[in-house]
Amino acid sequence: MGEPPRAQQRPEWLVTHGPRSGRHCGAQCGMDQDMTDPNIALRERLITAGLRPTSKRLALGGLVLNGANRHFSAEQMWNDAQSAGIRVSLATVYNTLRAFVDSSLLQVVQLQRSDVFDTNTHPHHHVLDETTGQLTDLEDAAVTLTLDEGFLPPGATVQDVDIVVRVRS
Ligand SMILES: [Zn+2]
Repeated sequence: MGEPPRAQQRPEWLVTHGPRSGRHCGAQCGMDQDMTDPNIALRERLITAGLRPTSKRLALGGLVLNGANRHFSAEQMWNDAQSAGIRVSLATVYNTLRAFVDSSLLQVVQLQRSDVFDTNTHPHHHVLDETTGQLTDLEDAAVTLTLDEGFLPPGATVQDVDIVVRVRS
């Protein structure tokens, strides 16, 4: 007479979201507001994050802050903006992305060559396919880490650990 098997269901916000799933993270990521009008929702999200909802931030935010989980470089975002008919300079794209990062709407994944911006701002790791360049999320639970803090500089406290698992396909 064992216990009934426990449901292995993870909380919704821990579910890894695939690149184009359009899934958001529930209440944890502040996107649980009425998304029926994406413009109004985005405007409110920018304001809540402490950003003035300028037309450029709304236009560029509409490309990447729409709930779909993705990783992208500033150059890719600039290309997407051109395709969408949004006329901005690459410098404006950089400044806008930096503002989004400073407001915790995005985070930066630092790879060797260039910054990749990430719509998933929860703590997580990454898998980088060196063959295709594809970067995908690897949830925190997938990694068991032992860190001897004695090797850290004196007085330093750990803020975060980002792991990039490099694979070839
Ligand atoms: Zn990620």
